[in-house]
Amino acid sequence: MPRRFRDVRRIGPVNIASYLDRGKNRHLAACTAPRCDFTAEYDSRAAAELAARTHRCSA
Ligand SMILES: [Zn+2]
Repeated sequence: MPRRFRDVRRIGPVNIASYLDRGKNRHLAACTAPRCDFTAEYDSRAAAELAARTHRCSA
């Protein structure tokens, strides 16, 4: 099922995006670095941005 991402933003190697999931705002953080499979979903944009800022690449 296609997700419609909005407010896509990059913090370091991590992409942040917000999307609507069954009427609720959800926020996704996903690292773009090769060999780093960090990805996480959050209920708040602030939490997703914090995770992106504090992410330490394992790659
Ligand atoms: Zn990473």
